[in-house]
Amino acid sequence: MSNLSIFKIGIGPSSSHTLGVVIAGNLFCAKARDKIKLDSLNRIKVTFYGSLSLTGKGHLSDKAIIWGLSGCKARELDSTTQESILKKALESKKLDFGGFKEIDFNYKSDLVFSKEFAPLHQNALKIEAFSIDNRILLEEIYYSIGGGFVMNEVELKKYRENPNSQEKSKNLALDFNSAKECLALCEANKWNLAELSYEYELQFHTKEEIRSYCFEIWEAMQESYYNGIHPKSLYLPGSLNLKRRAVGLSERLVMSSDPMAIIDFISLYAIAIAEENASGGRVVSAPTNGACAVVPAVMLYLKNHSVGFNDGRIMDFLLTAMLIGSLYKKNASISGAEAGCQAEIGSASSMAAAAMATSMGASAKVACNAAEIAMEHHLGLTCDPVGGLVQIPCIERNAFGAIKAISASRMAMSRKSTPIVNLDDIIKTMYETGKDMNAKYKETALGGLAKTIVC
Ligand code: SF4
Repeated sequence: MSNLSIFKIGIGPSSSHTLGVVIAGNLFCAKARDKIKLDSLNRIKVTFYGSLSLTGKGHLSDKAIIWGLSGCKARELDSTTQESILKKALESKKLDFGGFKEIDFNYKSDLVFSKEFAPLHQNALKIEAFSIDNRILLEEIYYSIGGGFVMNEVELKKYRENPNSQEKSKNLALDFNSAKECLALCEANKWNLAELSYEYELQFHTKEEIRSYCFEIWEAMQESYYNGIHPKSLYLPGSLNLKRRAVGLSERLVMSSDPMAIIDFISLYAIAIAEENASGGRVVSAPTNGACAVVPAVMLYLKNHSVGFNDGRIMDFLLTAMLIGSLYKKNASISGAEAGCQAEIGSASSMAAAAMATSMGASAKVACNAAEIAMEHHLGLTCDPVGGLVQIPCIERNAFGAIKAISASRMAMSRKSTPIVNLDDIIKTMYETGKDMNAKYKETALGGLAKTIVC
């Protein structure tokens, strides 16, 4: 399976609760068009379970399902389209199902926030289509497993049985499922991680497709930073009434002669993008929306504060980051609802650390060590979003994820000793820690800061 889907252009604030829900809505529309007679469709009911129910409203899952069921693709959802669809659904009480049939819609009765958890994953939603005489025409449960990846029950069961058994991967000449296998391939072929990732992707895409994907992603990341420092509103949506900080930080930094200002610049890049995500703006999930600012903040640091971050290095950076992200996705989790924030900010920091090292000329061994160091110091990080919003602690956490990635990268590149812990060990440990973590700390807003700070 290609790893180009590790980065996805979509909307904030959450890849599992917003982007994944839009995608689930799109999938249901496509299935309904194939399976049922649309003339008999009368209404749709959506039931959110687990974390999607507990923090769904703060993460805009209720709005996301309306956009998804209206047939809108996440990457095309600008603010005008978002508002016009919501206005129609909430004020006129009409939903343009899949863009092919207008049906009645009642927010209060058609969207249900259940206290139950679905059996296979913390993020689940059931979508049902009813006929005029109230018969179920179609029913599907979708699981949003993190990073905007969505599976139905059958697909997730198969994936759970063996995450590495991707049908398409069976006959690949070049394949890997662990850091150890990556390192063996790199050693045999004298590649770094970016070269391995590139050769791997060439089994699925042309050179031009890989290049244009990387630059489209980089363009969208820079655009989200620009929008973050030029916001339409100085306040973020939601009950916290949180003031955006990136604008003020960027104004103050212009005049700064502080030798530590570099740290503030890295924070600025991350905070601006994370605030854009929290506002529901267009961002790149990397590998998730909650952690969307870590990778671009490190890239902006290299672009603005180092020499020679050219097109080749940008490609190396993104190719390496997606390869490391794929190892977390295959062997652990990139979902805060499944393994806490260590799976989101930790994975993003690990990806960025290896990517920075590779783009600066590090070998695969050194880059894997950078990825390991970055994750090692995120182990145990809980997910406890205040008010169920992707704001506190999420926004600042992106800044720390980026700073740790840069530190990890530099530590790995300058070390003279042999590491004791390897990348596969840390990925396994992160997942085990996540499984042991109390459900209160896995994107339910029932514990930690979310409980201390009541809003
Ligand atoms: S605490 Fe971390 S995992 Fe949880 S919503 Fe915020 S960024 Fe995502």
